[in-house]
Amino acid sequence: MQIPAAFDYARADSVEHALELLEQHGPESRLIAGGHSLLPMMKLRLARPEWLVDINDLHELDFISEDAEVLRIGALTRHATLLESDVIARLFAIITDAEHVIADPVVRNRGTIGGSLCQADPAEDLSTVCHVLSAEVVIRGRSGERTLSMADLHRGPYETAVAQDEILTEIRLPVRPRFGSAYEKVERRVGDWAIVAAGAAVSLAGDGSIEQARVGLTAVGLDSGTVTRAEEALRGGRPSEELFVEAARLAGEDCSPDSDQRGPVDYKRHLADELTRRVLRRACRRAAEQGAEQTCRLP
Ligand SMILES: Cc1cc2nc3c(=O)[nH]c(=O)nc-3n(C[C@H](O)[C@H](O)[C@H](O)COP(=O)(O)OP(=O)(O)OC[C@H]3O[C@@H](n4cnc5c(N)ncnc54)[C@H](O)[C@@H]3O)c2cc1C
Repeated sequence: MQIPAAFDYARADSVEHALELLEQHGPESRLIAGGHSLLPMMKLRLARPEWLVDINDLHELDFISEDAEVLRIGALTRHATLLESDVIARLFAIITDAEHVIADPVVRNRGTIGGSLCQADPAEDLSTVCHVLSAEVVIRGRSGERTLSMADLHRGPYETAVAQDEILTEIRLPVRPRFGSAYEKVERRVGDWAIVAAGAAVSLAGDGSIEQARVGLTAVGLDSGTVTRAEEALRGGRPSEELFVEAARLAGEDCSPDSDQRGPVDYKRHLADELTRRVLRRACRRAAEQGAEQTCRLP
């Protein structure tokens, strides 16, 4: 049986209190949200915090809030809440797609979006999703608040710009018209981490061409989270099978997977190519459907 090293425990009752506790207990203290990444690491002695600061009572960080231009998600929002949210399914179907294939109900009932982004595991699904959605994150410390892009949040595998005495409080997703997004993952068995996964988000111009496109891949060694050449190939084009095939080919070429117990490099490149094509098809179809709905609602 794996048992973590000894630690002390404090339960915060507000964001300010959590920040005070982090400051008081210093560099060996660590936040715990759902605990589904941190506790396994502690059991394997890959993490040995001396103090755990529990943020599960911070209901102020558990929300989904929509306005005309941005959807805000509190960092303590659980996977299960995201999966069941109608507003998420309507605006950002990529999140609903991803949540269907993240772990199992036990993990989804506890694990949080904030913990997922802060863990920065290269095989983690919501990070790719947030890159693809051009999310911004809000980080709070004792001296105030700052907002970062996803590209600035993630500094490498398991490394983020959130300092030891800070909390990620909120994720902001820009809301766009004629917008569609999708996510698809291949895993060894249901509930497992990705062998490879792909996400896409597109917005369409009035003439039906692709105005903006983002393509992201999970578990294939991408530094930036998205595949720039594939995105450039899509921009300005008309959605078509030929265009998707070309963008997917570039995505497969531009990722850098490792060969491991989940499969060899060639197989992962093939998955990156195939999954990119599929998510582009679905994202463009969803964007066209959303555009049609918006047009119908006009007086
Ligand atoms: C069996 C199993 C299968 C899984 N499968 C998948 C999968 O297929 N895909 C997938 O994406 N994930 C998967 N996960 C991970 C799961 O999604 C976790 O819930 C998630 O990675 C971490 O969220 P958490 O709330 O549990 O974070 P925790 O474990 O509590 O914390 C993770 C890290 O983030 C820090 N942290 C947490 N919240 C904050 C915050 N608000 N501000 C700053 N730092 C913070 C902690 O200090 C810690 O370093 C799996 C986990 C398990 C156990």
